[in-house]
Amino acid sequence: MSPDKTKELFDIHPSFFTSLHPFEPLSMSGFDCGDGWMDVLRKAFTEMKEVAERNGYNTKITQVKEKYGTLRIYLDADFDDFDHIIQRAEKESSETCELCGKPGELVNDGWYHTFCSECASK
Ligand SMILES: [Zn+2]
Repeated sequence: MSPDKTKELFDIHPSFFTSLHPFEPLSMSGFDCGDGWMDVLRKAFTEMKEVAERNGYNTKITQVKEKYGTLRIYLDADFDDFDHIIQRAEKESSETCELCGKPGELVNDGWYHTFCSECASK
């Protein structure tokens, strides 16, 4: 994900990312997915922020990446309150082009990707 979008996502709730161990995947490689999922991540982080603030959770997001064509968000702790937000983001990513953000679908051309028809034909 590009640096300006990464910064915007960090700024939604910096405490999700501060004091992360330097060898956590997110410290090493940032958000390891395409810019097309920006809106999916923005919505998920915004809701996760509300949950964290309401419950006083000091949770860290340790990894965000594409896997088998969809978005994965990993935390340093397991809270049921975050599960439905993360699962919905994963589902939304399977309907959103990872490259451009237009409606897309999960395709398997040897690798799994979620692309719109335009990006898939490139
Ligand atoms: Zn696309």
